[in-house]
Amino acid sequence: MDNCIFCKIINGEIPSDKVYEDEKVLAFKDINPIAPVHILVIPKKHYESIIDIQDNEMEIVAYIHKIINKIAHDMNFKEDGFRIVNNCGKNAGQEVKHIHYHIIGGKILKWA
Ligand code: AMP
Ligand code: ZN
Repeated sequence: MDNCIFCKIINGEIPSDKVYEDEKVLAFKDINPIAPVHILVIPKKHYESIIDIQDNEMEIVAYIHKIINKIAHDMNFKEDGFRIVNNCGKNAGQEVKHIHYHIIGGKILKWA
């Protein structure tokens, strides 16, 4: 989608520090990390948020969680744990209007 920063990352117009990529999703390091590990996982198809995903396309959400599971194993997060965050819309403070799941870990996280 035009003027979407994450679509531009997907098509290579904007560089990113990639962690994982396949035909459906991209995972890359957050440019402004709030923890030692802060990765964003996004679908390559543009959806603004979960609100915009129709029932018949909802498999992508399970697929994103499958990749989160893989990254969490790769990062050895099984014992210490980590956090998955999906900010959805205005009240949650969603800044980038392309659905993304934050993987945050590597330290003890407070609940705001
Ligand atoms: P949210 O507040 O959930 O919309 O989070 C958006 C996240 O995208 C923030 O944590 C930003 O630091 C991150 N971000 C914005 N631009 C970039 C970029 N070019 N590369 C990597 N992360 C980015
Ligand atoms: Zn987009």
